[in-house]
Amino acid sequence: MRPLSAFSRPLAVLLVFVLACPAWMLAGVSAEPSLPDPGLAAPRDQQIQLGQKAVAEVYKQMPILPDSSPVTLYVRSLGHRLQRVIPEEYNWPYQFHVVQQSDINAFALPGGPVFVNLGTILAADNEAELAGVLAHEMSHVYMQHSIKGMRKQGTTQAAGQILGGLLGAVLGGAAGALANLGAQLGAGVISMRYSRADEAQADAVGAIIMWKAGYNPLRLAQFFQKLAAKGGGSGPQFLSDHPDPGDRVQAVQHEIRNWPSRQYRDDTPEFAQARQEARSLRAYSAQQIHEMARSGQTPHNVSDPDGVPTGPSRPRGSADSSGVMPSGSFQQFQGTFSIEHPSNWQATRDQQSGGVTIAPQAGVSQNGIAYGAVVGQFQPRNANNLDDATQQLIATLQQQNPGIRQAGKLQSIRVNGVPGKSVDLLGPSPLAGPDGQPLPEHDWLVTLPNSDGAAISLVFVAPEKDFPRLRPTYEHMLKTFHLNE
Ligand code: ZN
Repeated sequence: MRPLSAFSRPLAVLLVFVLACPAWMLAGVSAEPSLPDPGLAAPRDQQIQLGQKAVAEVYKQMPILPDSSPVTLYVRSLGHRLQRVIPEEYNWPYQFHVVQQSDINAFALPGGPVFVNLGTILAADNEAELAGVLAHEMSHVYMQHSIKGMRKQGTTQAAGQILGGLLGAVLGGAAGALANLGAQLGAGVISMRYSRADEAQADAVGAIIMWKAGYNPLRLAQFFQKLAAKGGGSGPQFLSDHPDPGDRVQAVQHEIRNWPSRQYRDDTPEFAQARQEARSLRAYSAQQIHEMARSGQTPHNVSDPDGVPTGPSRPRGSADSSGVMPSGSFQQFQGTFSIEHPSNWQATRDQQSGGVTIAPQAGVSQNGIAYGAVVGQFQPRNANNLDDATQQLIATLQQQNPGIRQAGKLQSIRVNGVPGKSVDLLGPSPLAGPDGQPLPEHDWLVTLPNSDGAAISLVFVAPEKDFPRLRPTYEHMLKTFHLNE
């Protein structure tokens, strides 16, 4: 081998410099921004679990629009548009919910759940501003600020207490002090208000997400600035949970100064439509929600056919679903495919169809599966593409059960890099409510192409009222799904 020449030495040195140098220093004036490495503040599963438990509490305490509401569907598609720009290794099972609350606010829970108030949707002037709120909240999750905040305070409490503190802060800010929950879980032990440094960081990371998703990052800062300028009324609610870190617009302006310019998506007819829809919905004040939660009642968050929530209330906790809820730990199923599933659920293969049911024992009755997932294969007839195939499958399901209807359009989805389709179906559950009528059921259908024109279907099932609690589990399952050749 040739000895190191005088020429190659500087090159090696230069190479070291190049590798040690942040990307933006090298790329010159128009460097595309890239998302920072957020580190891991606690094991992912733990964060997701904590968030999941908190979601269940939020649903008990606050009026949340059903997943099938057009407003929720819109917010979700907007959220997913933003989520798609986050690299896989830093991504979370984000989910998006709309609170029937008039105050301008939004909050995020560890592991991915994001809640946005109807009041926030009404306060936004265009899609980009609402995207800014979502991007900011998603960045709190991305950076794991609530977990890091607990760490900073030297929290060594048990998970239940951490959860209590978290909820006390989230609901304390969002829905007023919830005395009953506080006594139960020790709310107020930990303050979960974000620090100004966290706020600045959520703006900075949110700006990158905005840019990558095709929105003007300035819209994020401008919306918050607009809220601050409003003062009084409903403006400060958001700002008391998310304290103003200073001149937000200037900070973002500075951050984006060297980013390449691009055509931004600002407003869309979908936003206008969702906002119109949101205006027709009942929104409660923080005080009303507080009183309903105190008296052990939540507003009826099942819509009538026109999408207008009926109410006012029903007793909570009447249906016990504790026997079916996932344990939080996962185990892997291996067959023609592999998938991780809750370790307290069982996988069983149907000898005839070859389909695999993964469900908790208590979630399966003679009438069918009330909770769980079914993975199967189907053979479409003359389908041009996966959309066609998926519509055929839905039609077949509808033939078997005329109560099933499709909620929203087919959405594109990627499962471990494989492009598939995702759609929500609504139908009657095998379980009956207190009135003897079937509970409304939510079925999340995902289809993927298989060899020889066949397709794979995954259906995730739960009564609509419990679906949000199970969604993170189902998203985890989907994420771990692989076909084995
Ligand atoms: Zn914030």
